Amino acid sequence: MKKNIADIDVKGKRVLMRVDFNVPLDDARRITDDSRITGALPSIKYVIENGGKLILMSHLGRPKGEVTPEFSMAPVAERLSELLKMNVKKADDCIGEDVQDMVSQMKNGEVILLENLRFHKEEEKNNPEFAKKLASLGDVFVMDAFGTCHRAHASTEGVTRYLPSVAGFLVEKEIEYFEKVTKDPERPVSLILGGAKVEDKIPVIENMLPKIDFLLIGGAMAYTFLKSRMKGIGASRVEDGMLQTVSKIFELASVHKVGIFLPKDHVVAKEVSATAKSKVVKEHIPDGWIGLDIGPETVASFKEVLKDSKTIIWNGPLGLFEMKPFSAGTKEIAKFLSKLKATTVIGGGDTAAAIYQMGLDKNMSHISTGGGASLEYLEGKVLPGVAALNDK
Ligand code: AMP
Repeated sequence: MKKNIADIDVKGKRVLMRVDFNVPLDDARRITDDSRITGALPSIKYVIENGGKLILMSHLGRPKGEVTPEFSMAPVAERLSELLKMNVKKADDCIGEDVQDMVSQMKNGEVILLENLRFHKEEEKNNPEFAKKLASLGDVFVMDAFGTCHRAHASTEGVTRYLPSVAGFLVEKEIEYFEKVTKDPERPVSLILGGAKVEDKIPVIENMLPKIDFLLIGGAMAYTFLKSRMKGIGASRVEDGMLQTVSKIFELASVHKVGIFLPKDHVVAKEVSATAKSKVVKEHIPDGWIGLDIGPETVASFKEVLKDSKTIIWNGPLGLFEMKPFSAGTKEIAKFLSKLKATTVIGGGDTAAAIYQMGLDKNMSHISTGGGASLEYLEGKVLPGVAALNDK
């Protein structure tokens, strides 16, 4: 167990907090979705209410080590000021004398937002000097940006070498759920995988097979699995280079007595377009047709497996859900999960986006805020930004 923000006394202390304020912006640099900011509010408010001096830091976009005004944190400081109903000052940089001065003048309960960390190339290189300069701004470090925990950057891992380091409330919840489902999940456990790339998901399957009972596969990745079982897949997306690996997965699954469930029917079209004519086909997909969603029989068979599962982990949409004609599979399964009593853990990225779109987020046990980080957790990898935090 890692220490969290509630385990330390923040009163009068300079609290350096890594948050994920990498929000989407439109062309006029207006924030189009502030859920990453609102997600960090519990940790932020905790520090303010307990009399800490809060120094927030994040990256935004991909400025690649250059000062790029379009990626300034200014719109974030503005939105945060509105949300907190107090003035959040934005520093012009994230290191340097001016920033030191600003911090030294802070009073308890005040908040400063540092300028984009990735204006310095040293951030992603985890440069020790840069990390030391960041760390000099705080007395304690709080990690609340799960989406960056799988990267050893100066602001995620580097600073922990110089400061006592604890998890914020967001990261704490992520650790709690992912530790549980990867180490000691309540059985039966179902793992639902979808999305486009097989290769990305193989390490997850290899790591999770000993801990799960059922593996349900949909999305484009299902076609590589179906092809290896000699099913007709038409013109669906396939990774021929992964066929051998997939055969080994079937062998490994039988060793671990895991049932693999693949699509039995498909929503197909002749082109990837929301206006293309689509139809449902059973079993084999005819030549020239592309599988773009799981069909209704598959949905029913997946529900049958899921209804008795105590733990359900889901990563990757079951069809090309961004286009309405191919979104039913993902939607149906999401709706079904939202009514179950099971522990439901949803990986970040596309799957999380689909659940939020449907307004079902409150009904899931946990929706990860990190796509890449949640995958690496499921792969059994040690996340540098988590490993570096102090133990309880
Ligand atoms: P990944 O990043 O590998 O999890 O892939 C996510 C993407 O896979 C999403 O944009 C989905 O729309 C897409 N996807 C899911 N199913 C299919 C499919 N049958 N054909 C093409 N793309 C798909």
